[in-house]
Amino acid sequence: MTSILVDHLVIGAGFSGLCAAIKLQETGERDFVVIERGSDVGGTWRDNTYPGAACDVPSQLYSFSFAPNPDWPKSFSEQPEIQAYIKRVADESGTLDRFVFDTSVEEARWDGDAQRWTVRTSGATYSARTVISGAGALSSPKLPDIAGIDSFEGTLFHSAEWDHETDLTGKRVAIIGTGASSIQIVPAIQKKVAHLDVYQRTAPYVIPRNDRSYSKLERLALAKVPGLQKAYRTAIYWAREGYVPGFTLAPKLALPAQKMALANIAKGIKDPALRAAVTPTYQIGCKRILISNTYYPALAADNCEVVTDAIAEVTPTGIVTADGTARDVDVLIIATGFHTTELPIAEKIIGKDGTPLAQRWEETGMSAYKGASVAGFPNFFFVVGPNTGLGHSSMVFMIESQMSYIIDAVRTMRREDLGAVEVTETAERTWSADIQRRMKRTVWSNGGCASWYLDKHGNNTTLWPRTTFAFRGKTASFDPDAYTVSAPNQLDREAAHS
Ligand code: NAP
Repeated sequence: MTSILVDHLVIGAGFSGLCAAIKLQETGERDFVVIERGSDVGGTWRDNTYPGAACDVPSQLYSFSFAPNPDWPKSFSEQPEIQAYIKRVADESGTLDRFVFDTSVEEARWDGDAQRWTVRTSGATYSARTVISGAGALSSPKLPDIAGIDSFEGTLFHSAEWDHETDLTGKRVAIIGTGASSIQIVPAIQKKVAHLDVYQRTAPYVIPRNDRSYSKLERLALAKVPGLQKAYRTAIYWAREGYVPGFTLAPKLALPAQKMALANIAKGIKDPALRAAVTPTYQIGCKRILISNTYYPALAADNCEVVTDAIAEVTPTGIVTADGTARDVDVLIIATGFHTTELPIAEKIIGKDGTPLAQRWEETGMSAYKGASVAGFPNFFFVVGPNTGLGHSSMVFMIESQMSYIIDAVRTMRREDLGAVEVTETAERTWSADIQRRMKRTVWSNGGCASWYLDKHGNNTTLWPRTTFAFRGKTASFDPDAYTVSAPNQLDREAAHS
């Protein structure tokens, strides 16, 4: 079988993959491909087109530092604007000719003799010196394991795979889950449906969304006044970093936010029983803090019912709860989140001893040195890998930090003429042990909730437990001392010259 030789293969064309392409090109690395299973750039922002989809980090910060956008219409942008931004940045980057769309990575296997990854896709097979995975943590919708769910005869879809063909007007609708997606969907559909059942397992904290539209004058000023947009972004950045101690060191610092959330309930809901039902019973911050001005008023509407009894089963016509009540519906919306603690791409990555990464992580839990490198998987780098998620700020900032580390690794390999770099087990273990030690005192571990941040071993393998500037410091440059480095072997030289 012939493979296409490339220096670098990037998986995914969301914020991470696009950033990888732009930064590779900037550094003079032009021999790369980006493999994307969808038909366009955008990743989770391309896929999550549900009504009300929007970002809960201000756009001035939730955007690339190297591609500022003075034209954001609002402080918290909606999905169509974010997707349009990603498409524009991709178009202007001059890298799109190296993107291969509608193509899935089926397997990436390390070939130690060639010091290359053989990457089999649904299209061609590639042989790449390095693989950069931007496959993302929010890319695989998670369906709940509820008895009878396959027997439902109405319309059923996941929030990340919204069925735009189905008109919800006048329908009886149920939504399972009350996380970040659901609290945006509920107010966006409540007025048009005949009836809405909201199945809540755990009440989230929802604080007000201080959103506003930018005036024409503001946008003009952001575009024309030198340094203004950067100063604005910097101010938002530092305000957000101020939340970190409330999550990681002293949860009492988050009490004002807790009061704000309770006031939001009191403002939106008059009925004491409903107020009690949606009041969380754990510390704020333990689960992602959500923002909305319209969620509670929607729950309080006459055509909405919050169901807190556990779901016993789904029947062909609706949902039966543990107390025996059956509620029939026409449409069932699954808003139960994503596979986050077992990155699905890991099943397809086979390391130097022939073991899939998923199998290794199954035993140990997810870990990667600086969120990027895993022992036994040379020349493979994650963007948004384990323990790089945030509860308070912009993932785009983390993506740029990780990319500067990876790009420096690529540069170092060129400069030092290295065939392979593999993080040592000691470096990876020390890094992860430090993260887990820091996790012990965070609200995510002690806040009295179960959350998708924690894996089955009880470890938080998803979030970064420090400031984002600490992460930027750690990823400022590649550190070959933490790696076993090898000179190129003969096969790789031949490949490089063929
Ligand atoms: P999520 O936050 O993980 O919420 C899933 C919801 O489904 C939770 O309420 C969960 O209840 C419930 N659930 C899960 N399994 C269930 C089951 N078997 N039976 C009943 N309920 C069940 O998922 P998401 O809302 O899709 O959001 C995922 C992540 O995407 C967010 O945390 C965020 O990072 C990102 N996101 C961001 C935005 C934004 O920027 N505004 C918007 C959407 C999504 P429990 O709490 O009891 O587990």
